[in-house]
Amino acid sequence: MLFREFERLQHQHPLLRAEVDRLDGWVGEVIRQDAHAVIDEQALSDLVDLRRPALRALLVELVNIGAFDTVFFWHCPNGAGVCKEAKRLSDFPDRLECDRCGQEHWFNDAEIEVSFVASDSLRVQAREESGRR
Ligand SMILES: [Zn+2]
Repeated sequence: MLFREFERLQHQHPLLRAEVDRLDGWVGEVIRQDAHAVIDEQALSDLVDLRRPALRALLVELVNIGAFDTVFFWHCPNGAGVCKEAKRLSDFPDRLECDRCGQEHWFNDAEIEVSFVASDSLRVQAREESGRR
């Protein structure tokens, strides 16, 4: 096991031992390539062999214990891509002028997507790990 947080998670979910182990290994790989990479939930779901809702529940737990941070993406309703990103939902303004399509958009839950990135704690552990090799 690479990360302390995943070890804790494994203790809390003994039935998901193998899944958490694969999750840990995969996240370690991703961080080594790009410490700020956004976790690709579909790729993770296939690899760890957990359905999306079960995986999402684990990811939320990992946020709660400090292994991951959330990132929120506000997608342009005109399909022009991500018009704003924020660490917290409350960081978004009620409306914004979209630099993608040039129009003004009002905040709408339906256009918000949440993703996960490794926390500083994981990044530090990954650095220490690669320093030992
Ligand atoms: Zn727009």
